[in-house]
This record gives sequence, structure tokens and C-alpha cells, in this order.
Amino acid sequence: MQRFTCDCGNVLFFGNFHCLKCAREVGYDPQGAVMRTLHAEGDWIRCENGTKHGVCNWLLPKKSVEKLCQACRMNRIIPDLNWGRNRLLWGKMEMAKRRLIDTLLRLGIALPTKAENSKEGLAFDIVSTLSNPTVTTGHLNGVITVNLEEADDTYRQINRQQLGESSRTLLGHFRHESAHYLWQRCLSELSWDDPLRLAFRARFGDEWIDYAAALTKHYERGTSSGWERSYITAYAASHPWEDWAETWAHYLQIVEGLETCESLGIQAQFLALPLVPLPGEAGTLPPMLPQVGLADGEFLAWLQRWMCLSTVLNEVSHSLGEQALYPFVITVPVAQKLRLAHHFAKVWGARKS
Ligand SMILES: [Zn+2]
Ligand SMILES: [Zn+2]
Ligand SMILES: [Zn+2]
Repeated sequence: MQRFTCDCGNVLFFGNFHCLKCAREVGYDPQGAVMRTLHAEGDWIRCENGTKHGVCNWLLPKKSVEKLCQACRMNRIIPDLNWGRNRLLWGKMEMAKRRLIDTLLRLGIALPTKAENSKEGLAFDIVSTLSNPTVTTGHLNGVITVNLEEADDTYRQINRQQLGESSRTLLGHFRHESAHYLWQRCLSELSWDDPLRLAFRARFGDEWIDYAAALTKHYERGTSSGWERSYITAYAASHPWEDWAETWAHYLQIVEGLETCESLGIQAQFLALPLVPLPGEAGTLPPMLPQVGLADGEFLAWLQRWMCLSTVLNEVSHSLGEQALYPFVITVPVAQKLRLAHHFAKVWGARKS
């Protein structure tokens, strides 16, 4: 996330509805990727989910025929707002969703709504298991469904502990499901021997492995020990699609985490941390996809900056008596997968579709 400044000079943050210093109304313009001040005579209006329900601070041009911002227009199902608790949880969901959409847009990845483009568009169903007990978080044909109850911190922490996850966040859910959406939209329709598909398979494995059987095995038997050497999370080891989704989610996490730190002036380049190598491997990355000119040095420098910063963030977290803010280890195989995610982001961002 970038650093934003109010017209009065005060710092603004992505979720702000007004400036804490001058009290002007403000909101985020996703196309310009800036916070703007709202004036009665200005060119911008707030999304109706902000004015009516207080759950969205995004703006749209006053001359637009739409009432909802780009992110809110993607909603197909929203929770029953007759119950006040649902509105609170929905607000947390929308905040996480807007962060995902903003990241993807700023990577240059176009995001049509399902209504605008039924084949490639994206839609969200935000449903509570209290109203529909069969709902599960997931992606199907351009529709990302999220269980509203995950926005309840206690509910999510219980799930996290039961599943043995080191981290479980709403934003992580959205990032993970966006990977499945982008895989289907950008990779599944390529021929099986397209270089991007071959690169995917070389890094993540054969995606034709029986998905249902793989997940059943994962949930019944757990992940075999030693997954840390090759995967960013235990769940990633369940199937190549889940490995991709966990890797993409992690890539977006680093993109945002690093930009936020650096835009706010935090730098930690004094630590020279090596990647954690596998036995017999050097802590460097072999060349891959030379035909697309991926800059190894640029990627590695970017990753190293994050590894330094995340170490600092963990130490700060421990000094405050909290657990590690960033409970992950990036090994060489994980870095190689992250590099492919970085490559896909570049390709999809350049394509503008
Ligand atoms: Zn101000
Ligand atoms: Zn909105
Ligand atoms: Zn998944």
C-alpha cells in the first residue's frame, strides 16, 4: 500500500472516510490509486455502500451512471443486513476484498465484473453459514464465495487452530481464491504445451492429479512431514492448484507488505539473509524462462528486501509480547514458485485483460 496525504498535509490511510486533522471527507479512487477529498462541487461521489451502510470508502466519478464502486459492483450476494452483526462482519469482508482488488488493479490486471463479462468477469457471494449451512469459501467459474462467519475473529481463530494454520486472515482468503480465479481465466484455456502452462507444471506439478482425492487425503491424513522444505504452507502441499493459490496469495502479501513498509519510510537492508537452501543446493536460483527475460537480480533484490523487513517486523512483534507477525520461511523452492507468480503478474498485468 502506498502512502497517502490529505490536502491539509496530514497522512491518510487506505480505509479512511475522513481526515483526522482537518475533518474533510475523503475516499479512495481505485482508478487513480489515490485518496481524494470529497467536495459538494467536486467530481467524485462516495460508493452507495459507503453512504448507506458505512462499509465502503471508495469513490466513483460523479458523472458515472453507477451507484456502487468497482469493488461493490462485483457483489452478487451480500449478507442479510436486518441483523446488525452481519453489517459489522460484512464491513470487515469488504475492507479485505477492496485490498485484494486494489492490489490486482495496481498490478495492471483488468477486473471486469461478472455482469460486464460473463466469461472472464469476477463476482463475489458473501454468505453466512448461519443462513446457508452448506456454504464454503471457494471459487467456481469466476464466482468467489466467502463465508461471512470468517469475519468473526473467534470463529476464524478456532478454524485456524483446528486446521493447524500459522496464519488465517480474511485478506488471505481473498488472495487465495483470486489465484484460482486467475488460473481459470488466464491459464486453463491455454494449450497444454503453452510455455506458461509448462512453466506452471514444472514448478507446481501436474495439475491433472485428482483434486477431490488429493484434498480428501490432505484432510484425513494431514500433510507429510518435511513440507516446509518445498511449500509456503502445509495446505499448499495438498495439490498443485492449492500450491499455486497459496503461493500467489503469498506473493500478493509480499507485494503489499513491502510497499507499505517502504512507502512509510521503513527500510531494513542491513541484514544479509540467505534464502534457506535445500541440502545440496546453493542459496541462489537457477535461471528459468530465459525467453521471457525475467530479471533474476531484480526479483531476488525485491525478495531479499522483504526477508529483511519481515525479520524486523517479527522482532518488533516479539518485543511487544506478540507472536511473529510473519510466521513463514522462504526456501529456495518457495522462492522459485514466488518468482513464477511474479512472472505471471507481469504477463497478466501487461496484457490488460
Ligand atoms: Zn486533512
Ligand atoms: Zn464500494
Ligand atoms: Zn484453494
